[in-house]
Amino acid sequence: MNKKIFRSSFLTVFLVLIATIALIMGILFHFFEKQIQKELENEANYLLLAVEKEGIHFFDEFKKQNNRITFINSNGKVLFDSDTDAENLDNHADREEIKEAMKTGEGKSTRYSKTLTEKTVNYAVRLSDGAILRVSTTQYTVISVLLGMLQPVLIVLFAALILTGVLSSRVSKAIIDPINTLDLKHPEQNETYEELTPLLRKLAEQNRTIEEQLAEAHKKQVEFKLITENMSEGFLVIDQDAILLTYNSAAMALFGITPPAEGSVLAFCRAKDFRDTVSKALSGEKWENTMMRDECCYSIIANPVFEDKEVIGAVIIILDITEREKRETLRREFTANVSHELKTPLTSISGFAELMKEGDVSQDTVVDFSESIYEEAQRLITLVNDIIKISELDGKSISFESETVDLYELSEEIINRLNDHAEKRNIVFHLIGSKTEITGVRKILDEMIYNLCDNAIKYNKENGTVDLIINETESSVAVMVRDTGIGIPAQHLSRVFERFYRVDKSHSKQVGGTGLGLAIVKHGAIYHNAAISLESTEGKGTTVTIRFDKK
Ligand code: ADP
Repeated sequence: MNKKIFRSSFLTVFLVLIATIALIMGILFHFFEKQIQKELENEANYLLLAVEKEGIHFFDEFKKQNNRITFINSNGKVLFDSDTDAENLDNHADREEIKEAMKTGEGKSTRYSKTLTEKTVNYAVRLSDGAILRVSTTQYTVISVLLGMLQPVLIVLFAALILTGVLSSRVSKAIIDPINTLDLKHPEQNETYEELTPLLRKLAEQNRTIEEQLAEAHKKQVEFKLITENMSEGFLVIDQDAILLTYNSAAMALFGITPPAEGSVLAFCRAKDFRDTVSKALSGEKWENTMMRDECCYSIIANPVFEDKEVIGAVIIILDITEREKRETLRREFTANVSHELKTPLTSISGFAELMKEGDVSQDTVVDFSESIYEEAQRLITLVNDIIKISELDGKSISFESETVDLYELSEEIINRLNDHAEKRNIVFHLIGSKTEITGVRKILDEMIYNLCDNAIKYNKENGTVDLIINETESSVAVMVRDTGIGIPAQHLSRVFERFYRVDKSHSKQVGGTGLGLAIVKHGAIYHNAAISLESTEGKGTTVTIRFDKK
């Protein structure tokens, strides 16, 4: 920049300088030429008077001063020449100035020497008898003047060069130095020459625009990061070569990679389903697939990204659908189990009814059959009721009213309801605790405690006991049901809360179990954000505790 300004200003100043010198010289030269012309004319007119008076004899005594004088008769023959012998000169009738003078009375001409270093300026006047008097002078041309003055001209040129150099350097420095020291971050705070003000204003304006755009871009980036980072789904953006462009931590966690990650996404996961999905998307098709990885099930959704109808990459979303798949499996199992559980009593009812329909049975047997049909029907009703309860809790489609429930009072009521049942087996209930209130759904809490107490009777021994303890601490309320029953073998402990899971199916059936009691307890606890624990020793008894958080 500095060099460029220096060069241009140097050239400009130098050229202006040379042009000025040339112009001045030209004007002077022109002025002197005019002057010489005038002198020639004056001299010619002055001589004209004398020659008119004295004729050719005027030249007899003529002494040449500065200019050359030529006297020519009306035919062009040279009669006298101050510089040469007239005899030696050829006819001058064809000379430009002579021709003109003969025609108009006066004639002018300028003739250059072969080397162009000299020029002859002629002025001719016509005498009354038609003869011509010519005054000529030889003058140096501009070129010869210049050549003659070469040394001073070169010295002047050299001086001009140096002067121009110094001036240009100062000018370029004066322009560039303030530009180089500009504070571009705060353009408007610079104190510099006026011509820069519009530029600085524009810069400040642009700075503001850039800052705004950067802030906007940053905001968008933060928003994007916040959204993607808070996604539990894996999120990936890849280019057309499957090279990773953007990702979120969930995706990296899924691939077991610690960020930062780069390179081909296909190197992160070699599962065929994943690779197929990626290549389908990169071929321009939206594709969905599932893949298994570390016992988890994932759904992969890949969408191609187009620009001008060309695939330039893909966006991949990976969802962990393990839970969903598990729920689906459970639901399928539940449906199968329900059908099976319903079918058994219905088959019995149908069998008994068929036998009775045929009329081959005695009156006593009809009574027995009727009792069996009644029992199976009761079992069906209990089963259907339990299925309804668990469906209500599971589907969360029904919203229950929460209220303040005194667990002690509720337990007392449940024990009363179960009293007959307990007495039949000579089982004694102990209710330990005092008024303890929690916020919950009375109906569900009732079912939970009822089922636990019912199990404690069903799976107890004759003359056993059931302790129902309500215990309140600062942070929680616990309901504990402890029996002295048959207990649960250790290998079954983890599964008894599953739907239709029974340790001993025939025993459960015999005591009227549906296999859904503990599952209802579990779902009730989930509904109330309560924790369940189960301790059991085979042959000694079982303790189930539900702990409600106080919040
Ligand atoms: P059920 O209707 O068969 O009682 P539950 O879901 O209530 O079904 O219980 C599942 C299984 O767990 C029962 O079949 C039984 O084998 C076992 N069980 C539940 N509670 C007790 C208990 N208090 N003592 C011993 N076994 C129990």
